Amino acid sequence: MLLEVQNLRKAFGGIEAVRGVAFALDAGEILALIGPNGAGKSTCFNMLNGQIRPDQGSVKLDGRELVGLTPRAIWRLGVGRTFQITQTFGSMTVRENVQMALLSHARAIHDVWRFAGRLEADEADRLLGLVGMDDAAERPCGELAYGDLKRVELAVALANRPKLLLMDEPTAGMAPKERVALMRLTARIARDRRMGVLFTEHDMDVVFEHADRIMVLNRGALIAEGRPAEVRANDQVRQIYLGE
Ligand code: ADP
Ligand code: MG
Repeated sequence: MLLEVQNLRKAFGGIEAVRGVAFALDAGEILALIGPNGAGKSTCFNMLNGQIRPDQGSVKLDGRELVGLTPRAIWRLGVGRTFQITQTFGSMTVRENVQMALLSHARAIHDVWRFAGRLEADEADRLLGLVGMDDAAERPCGELAYGDLKRVELAVALANRPKLLLMDEPTAGMAPKERVALMRLTARIARDRRMGVLFTEHDMDVVFEHADRIMVLNRGALIAEGRPAEVRANDQVRQIYLGE
């Protein structure tokens, strides 16, 4: 098992944001975490990548405990993340943004020098090809349409060769057609690279089409988990989440 999460808990003052969440995720698997606003989804993500330290619980990647490590250390071990807010540098070109990401993966100054030449540009172009943005390599990121910027962000996240990619509302603000395209692309890369993906998403069409499995979070606790068809048929989910 790539990721094993046990009894994850976090309270903010009196609010129990996450109350004993447990799940596992396999390499190459695409797992969706859904639930109403305030359910605790982002808090879960922040605990998985070390931005928030859980009050209790365990997060293991390939059997190695991540709780207590810094976000940087967790990132190095192979947990990548795309952000809700775009984090590219607008005045730099698309290629330069990916090159920057490749540089920050370099482990020592010697690597930085070694990678500072063509090697890194080739790798950047390869990643841009993967996300279908190679034609835009010379353009400043600030000029890109929102959906294209999201593709570049995916390439930036992939530069670290993550074993697990965390995507908190990756398609927020995108048109429906672009959402489907981004998740289809992500799914293909996940299967090719045997990369696990955990994502949150408001668009249920995207969730039901692309997730191998879905977990439903409500008030900090998982209330359902299963294949899309199982979750869709769950009475509690229909009542609490789908409002039926
Ligand atoms: P979601 O991502 O599912 O919308 P969040 O994880 O952002 O939910 O929030 C879960 C609960 O924790 C909410 O009640 C929210 O107000 C609270 N919360 C989240 N972050 C903080 C924080 N840094 N300080 C205090 N309360 C927080
Ligand atoms: Mg959130």
